[in-house]
Amino acid sequence: MFVVEAVKKIREVIEKEKREGKKIGLVPTMGYLHEGHLSLIRKAKEENDFVVVSVFVNPTQFGEGEDYESYPRELERDSKLAKSAGADLVFHPSVAEMYPKGYNTYVETYKITDKLCGASRPGHFRGVTTVVCKLFNIVVPHRAYFGQKDAQQVVVIKQMVRDLNMDLEIIPCPIVREEDGIALSSRNTYLNDEERKAGLILSKSLFKSKEMIENGERDGLKIKDFIINNIQTEPLAKIDYVEVVDAENLQDIEKLQGEVLIALAVKFGNTRLIDNMRIKIS
Ligand code: AMP
Repeated sequence: MFVVEAVKKIREVIEKEKREGKKIGLVPTMGYLHEGHLSLIRKAKEENDFVVVSVFVNPTQFGEGEDYESYPRELERDSKLAKSAGADLVFHPSVAEMYPKGYNTYVETYKITDKLCGASRPGHFRGVTTVVCKLFNIVVPHRAYFGQKDAQQVVVIKQMVRDLNMDLEIIPCPIVREEDGIALSSRNTYLNDEERKAGLILSKSLFKSKEMIENGERDGLKIKDFIINNIQTEPLAKIDYVEVVDAENLQDIEKLQGEVLIALAVKFGNTRLIDNMRIKIS
């Protein structure tokens, strides 16, 4: 019973755990787990008694022509990895279980989804907030864990939780990177060797811009231009966006202050990679 597919069943399990006074942690994922996901699961296990990992490739957050069909799916491998990191249960619903015939309700945040990935992937965050809201209603966790790798997603989920009075804590977790700096992502598997090598330009540019800020640069436009120019030296890279924004509300900032988010999305062949860095300005 480690993998549960039915909403009814998972509710029964969670109710029993809660009757025993257990704290429930939820880690929503689309599967094909890597160290980034596992770091979330480990943290959830440290802070809760019972950890649910959802594995669901959510069709409503993919746009037309995106990789919904080809997204890697390997439930058996994922279950083993999740278990080894401390998960107590994997929730793996079918699309029909989550969106049965006649399904007709969506959750949508505004403004903060107009830019960054929200601008490049219209409808994406509407799918994310809808599925995450459903997962919260199904599992009713005390805490839910999200990676800072998807920085805008964290801001959007926090906004939804605040606005809809959801009674749980959102815990953002740091980005896990390979030794060479590239951020772990299930989509890295799409990259060929050349693209994988070229992809390094993202973390390199981010680390370099962090250094520039640490050395006193406070002009957001200069940082943005530096990153764009740096990425453009890589022939395989096709920039989707590079933005320097306030980390809390995602508004553009020119003079860097407070907590800053440098976020970017770049295509290598057919693969769109995102990466970001949060920097506290002292
Ligand atoms: P995904 O399966 O890509 O939807 O990701 C599920 C969760 O894992 C999200 O909260 C992601 O932000 C998080 N995540 C993905 N990659 C990483 C990473 N490299 N480091 C930390 N968290 C990550």
